[in-house]
Amino acid sequence: MKIHHLDLGPARPFGGRLMDGVSPGLLARLTCHCLAIETSTHGVILVDTGFGLRDALRPTPRLPGWNLALLRPRLHPERTAIRRLKKLGFAPTDVRHIVMTHLDFDHAGGLVDFPHATVHLTAAEAEAATNRRSFIDRTRWRPAQWGDTGRWHTVETRLGTRGGGDTFFGLRNVRTIEGLPEDILFVPLPGHTPGHAGVAVKGPRGWMLHAGDTYFNRAEAHGDGTAPPLVAAYEHLMADNIHAGRQSLAALRLMLEAPDADVAVFCTHDPVEFAAVSAWSESDYAPPVAATSPAPTAPSPAPTAPSPAFARPLRNQLTVVMWSDSLSLV
Ligand SMILES: [Zn+2]
Repeated sequence: MKIHHLDLGPARPFGGRLMDGVSPGLLARLTCHCLAIETSTHGVILVDTGFGLRDALRPTPRLPGWNLALLRPRLHPERTAIRRLKKLGFAPTDVRHIVMTHLDFDHAGGLVDFPHATVHLTAAEAEAATNRRSFIDRTRWRPAQWGDTGRWHTVETRLGTRGGGDTFFGLRNVRTIEGLPEDILFVPLPGHTPGHAGVAVKGPRGWMLHAGDTYFNRAEAHGDGTAPPLVAAYEHLMADNIHAGRQSLAALRLMLEAPDADVAVFCTHDPVEFAAVSAWSESDYAPPVAATSPAPTAPSPAPTAPSPAFARPLRNQLTVVMWSDSLSLV
């Protein structure tokens, strides 16, 4: 398994550090952190899809205008999953599965670019998105992005319907996903949307939890719990159930405080987390062995020494990188 971290919706909203906590000046940075997981058995598995090709080519009326005005995503065909994967050597048909944290317009835009993929999402999300009731519902869920919904495979994550599920480092009600390896799991974290879920992936460096939009700024999960004011206002505006969202975030923070929770937790939209987690996750790969190497008798190459920061336990590594003043954002 190899995991690629892709920003499939970089945005430059106004607000500077009031929005992202770090940017000097008028503009802030937000990411749309998605995963492309290369597997030997299930092709390429995407976790979320960001904005898609059609979003980039003709954003209106596919995307909600007032959200575009607030977030100012830098829509461009070359920043979509289909084009990024092409550069990595993959055809659209190589994407056989897509796992969605939720169906918001900034996460679901690429679904239609991969018509051959099975789409995995929670049953609660599918039900809510196909029965839009409020103005915010119609803003966030854009059926034009979904393609054929007959390929949706839903997972029931609500308590009481299918029993209690498993636990994941103390988080309850976790579900395996039928048709996918057991090292990819749904971790229900409702609140932002009714069926919002984190996606846990066991990669080469251990478990990571893509927490989707459970929080928008790293300080909410890894710091003092407080988001910068402008991003907090946007979270509040888009929350389906603020109380449930707070409970989900509290459960995440409790997990991160536990001494045995050796799991990397990150959200979709924090640019510092994106840079830190990408560096951590992708630094583990051994240099490729040359195909022409003669070798059973040749000495194997010396392993790459980890940097001092990466020699620490997992959560410390991420904390060091995330709060480092020297971290440069791309
Ligand atoms: Zn989002």
